[in-house]
Amino acid sequence: MIKSYPSAIIGKDSIDSGIDTIDIIDPSTELVIGKIGNATSKEVDKAVSTARKVFENGVWSKASVPNRQSILREIADVIDKNAEELAHIESGNSGIPLKQARERHVRRAAYNFRFFADYIGQTVSEVYEQNPDFLTIVRREPIGVAALIAPWNAPIALGSMKIAAAIAFGNSCVIKPSEEAPLGVIRLVELINTTDLPSGVVNLVNGDGRLTGDALVRNAGTDLVSFTGGTSTGRAIMAAAAEGLKPVTMELGGKSANIIFEDANLERALDGALLGIFTNNGQQCLAGSRILVHNSIAKDFKAAFVQRAKRIRIGRPEDANTQMGPLASRAHRDRVLGFIEIAKKDGAKVLTGGDSPEEFEKGFYINPIVTEIDSNASQVCQDEIFGPFGTFLTFDTEEEAYRMANDTSFGLVSYVWSENVNRVMRAQEALRSGVVWINTPMMRELRAPFGGYKDSGIGAEGGRACETFYTYAKTVTTPRRELPLTKLGIDE
Ligand code: NAD
Repeated sequence: MIKSYPSAIIGKDSIDSGIDTIDIIDPSTELVIGKIGNATSKEVDKAVSTARKVFENGVWSKASVPNRQSILREIADVIDKNAEELAHIESGNSGIPLKQARERHVRRAAYNFRFFADYIGQTVSEVYEQNPDFLTIVRREPIGVAALIAPWNAPIALGSMKIAAAIAFGNSCVIKPSEEAPLGVIRLVELINTTDLPSGVVNLVNGDGRLTGDALVRNAGTDLVSFTGGTSTGRAIMAAAAEGLKPVTMELGGKSANIIFEDANLERALDGALLGIFTNNGQQCLAGSRILVHNSIAKDFKAAFVQRAKRIRIGRPEDANTQMGPLASRAHRDRVLGFIEIAKKDGAKVLTGGDSPEEFEKGFYINPIVTEIDSNASQVCQDEIFGPFGTFLTFDTEEEAYRMANDTSFGLVSYVWSENVNRVMRAQEALRSGVVWINTPMMRELRAPFGGYKDSGIGAEGGRACETFYTYAKTVTTPRRELPLTKLGIDE
């Protein structure tokens, strides 16, 4: 049965615009599993004004920190209690293996709310008293209504990060999930609405980015925009937000280098390189898509990598054994496959993959792709492919590795594998990316900022980074005694 989902959830009310309905497709069966309407600018306006009204009445924005903490923890508990349902929805809508949806995405969603509950209990404010005549304090106040725009590759994990961070500091919000995979976030917001969070703090609008998303960014009632998605979309959103002078955070694309030195623990580096490019069906901003290997070990490393890539278990997302599911949509699969021809034209050798596994008649399945190429200038080394598509490059010297790693318009993440601590220290300094993972794939420390250099973004998400973004700093200065004031209008 094809279910109709609301085009907006405003307060606790679900609203269906019925306009330009969008099909939601299960990428493992290609079947339409739902429909969402585009929220119109009128509905966006209603969601924003509801968020604004609740912000201004102070029921949440002025709630005590212990009160906010207990509700954030209640949300985390509700996510945990409904984890199985959320994981099934997420996996069914996105093609992410159920095991990964359950153990990484939904668990992370609950953790996001617990993390910010803990964080707000420990914040400190600045006090300046260098000038003994005055006491100056800096207070942090919530800003207002946050517009949150999320992508399809990890909807619940990334959407929940935005909601948790925005509301922890007292803001209200309106989230717009991706029109390609909105179902997990819709259910998340419904679950949030079963808690004691005041109605209207979290609202949702569904729809096409250029209609509903744009209306949300431009709405005069939204005060700031937190966006995760592609770099070109980020540019469009920033331009729209600039008209209202709205602060933005932009978590954008990547083309991350995974550098494997000859002195690495090669077994761990191999595991890490495979995880770095093939987790989440290869659809992750932080994918280690350029694998840079020292020439002296390249032949054996590549052979071992290819052998393992061929054995990755492609399967239905719900099967416990599945390591890689289908890509998210037909258009996306075709785009990823299109890079094989581009790679070949640039002189690349396809070492494995790109064909469709025979056992599936339907679904956007492909075998993991591994290529090798001589030049980092090739489009496959410069464009974000956002799929299970790893490209090997080789180097002779450390400097060459760093030069190649940095030779990209992106700068989200770098991976380094070496057992030499001095080399590791040189590497983390030389690499131009917001995050450097040494001898580990994908360790997200929420206390620390996660954000990109260059075209990978502006701003960051993480404990203090979110506190700074989601609050105004108000400076309050008081004299400590009655200081003489110049008397204007009185003759001395
Ligand atoms: P996308 O840019 O196509 O869409 C992201 C969101 O923006 C969607 O909700 C979409 O509806 C909305 N949108 C599109 N145009 C808009 C507009 N003009 N105004 C307002 N909203 C608009 O991205 P995607 O294809 O959903 O996601 C994949 C991209 O996200 C990749 O580039 C990936 O690297 C990036 N990503 C980055 C991070 C990070 O933390 N840096 C994390 C995950 C994904």
